[in-house]
Amino acid sequence: MYAADTIAAIATPPGAGGIGIVRVSGPLALTIAQRVFRGNGDGAGWESHRLYHGRVVDAAGKPLDDALAVLMRAPRSYTGEDVVELHCHGSPVALHDVLRATLAYGARLAEAGEFTRRAFLNGRVDLAQAEAIIELIRARSEAGATMAAEQLLGRLSRTLDEIRSALLDIRAQLEVQIDFSEEDVAVDQQRLASDIGLAREQVLALLSSYRQGKLARDGLRVTIAGKPNVGKSSLLNALLSEERAIVTAIPGTTRDTLEETVNFDGFPVVLADTAGLREASDPVEEIGVRRAHAKLADADVVIAVFDTSRPWEREDDQVLRAVAARTAVAVLNKSDLPSLFGPGRIQESLGRAVVLRLSARTGAGLDQLRVAVVRGAAGQPEAGGDRPTITLVRHRDALERVAESLELALEGVRGRLAPELVAVDVQNAADHIGSITGTITSEDVLDRIFSEFCIGK
Ligand code: GDP
Repeated sequence: MYAADTIAAIATPPGAGGIGIVRVSGPLALTIAQRVFRGNGDGAGWESHRLYHGRVVDAAGKPLDDALAVLMRAPRSYTGEDVVELHCHGSPVALHDVLRATLAYGARLAEAGEFTRRAFLNGRVDLAQAEAIIELIRARSEAGATMAAEQLLGRLSRTLDEIRSALLDIRAQLEVQIDFSEEDVAVDQQRLASDIGLAREQVLALLSSYRQGKLARDGLRVTIAGKPNVGKSSLLNALLSEERAIVTAIPGTTRDTLEETVNFDGFPVVLADTAGLREASDPVEEIGVRRAHAKLADADVVIAVFDTSRPWEREDDQVLRAVAARTAVAVLNKSDLPSLFGPGRIQESLGRAVVLRLSARTGAGLDQLRVAVVRGAAGQPEAGGDRPTITLVRHRDALERVAESLELALEGVRGRLAPELVAVDVQNAADHIGSITGTITSEDVLDRIFSEFCIGK
């Protein structure tokens, strides 16, 4: 096991709360607990995984709080070491006093992410799972939280381990070839190529899940475009006012962008309205129009709004041209009024884009719009959907290197390259997979990952 000193930290968020937890992990955890905690009644016998009621006292015996204490003996704890948690009242002052008491008996203040780092070093979680813990803590949407939870439960790690173990088998096949002459092994070439090809397919499938995963994690940027007066602001307001209550109800989302972040079908969406898209008639307006075009370029999905209560105009054609190369959903707004044109022209020029009738005034069609926007950006959800999703750049980069190495290996096999050389590529691919789960990882990668945690995690 990873030898370590004993660390302590307040594990609950800063501020007042019903409960606040001081967590202590390491060889001194029990000794420290025996000093700072006095059990009531029969007292604390310190049986593992049992909750005791009592009080926390400082070095002079002064009571600091009424609390519950639990010891989790190694290795059955979060870190894999002896862990003691003191569940106090969530008073920031009292919690600091309790923390100070644990430090007085030999614990050291934990660094950011150090509990989870120890969990990794002691084999309680692999690296991808440790990263999932950060993602879960930070998740801003249901979809993001679900993906993090699945990664935490090891779904991604299992898939990666399977691919890695297949690669190590291929490597073993190659080792055999190295020891034999060419005639003996000619038959195996096909099997080798198909095994490598299969592993490569699996890696590419994981890579293709990245876009959807990233959207679930970071959200989609959606811009509303259209000529003036078609109802862009009304649409923005309709989408915001229905959703705002839900979003603000999620704790911990007090970010500046909150005002504009809404939830579409489980995905976080940052909505932006643009100035009307039209030919500018003066320099000031031109700046606005140029900004509108820049916003368009920046968006994952553009909602192009048209007003069917007025005849089609040249300016509508300009809107069509501006969004032609983008992922777009077209909206025929003001469906509560008699309509003067249908979806034909739009559908023709935007090809595969979804065209929806909607009324920003009555709210009819808003639900379909939300779904169309998410589908437009993320694609249809996978049938069966039993493949894990990649959400982190680090994982995507590693998998891209895996795919490249396997591509080289395939070329090598097809080109009858010496098995030693192909084996190097296959080993590289296996190592890059190992770097995701942490089988193979350098200190500085670990530093970078765990520094993203907050203290106490
Ligand atoms: P923008 O310039 O594109 O942002 O358009 P606005 O949102 O300011 O809307 C222009 C006008 O159209 C306003 O008077 C709105 O009340 C009206 N409007 C917007 N959406 C609808 C709708 O769905 N139905 C009807 N009847 N009027 C709408």
